[in-house]
Amino acid sequence: MGTLFQFRCPGCGYEAQVSGGLGWGILAVTHTVSCPTCTELSDMIVAEEPWEFSEWMERECVNRDDAVAKAAQARWMPEKIRCDLDHRHKASLWSHPGPCPRCGTTLAKGEMTMLWD
Ligand SMILES: [Zn+2]
Ligand SMILES: [Zn+2]
Repeated sequence: MGTLFQFRCPGCGYEAQVSGGLGWGILAVTHTVSCPTCTELSDMIVAEEPWEFSEWMERECVNRDDAVAKAAQARWMPEKIRCDLDHRHKASLWSHPGPCPRCGTTLAKGEMTMLWD
């Protein structure tokens, strides 16, 4: 099951509800991306075989820490990172703590807002 968090920028007030990095549920594996064209964060679907991903995570990883996320990226991330709002946009992977897509201030992580599956 995936978890979304509320992120808020203390600089400009920008808010987004994203997983804040790698996330996965029953239907898909996602990673948060930052699009400079939309100046928005969104969650890009990176794989639609989350069961394979889950098996891999259980096999390879004990903790879901930064090193795990990096290893997972190397193994699972597509070469082309695309904005989830418009797939023609080039985006870049975004993980908490990361910069605001509008003003560059580090976003604050807030409440867990929902679970998805
Ligand atoms: Zn901002
Ligand atoms: Zn975009």
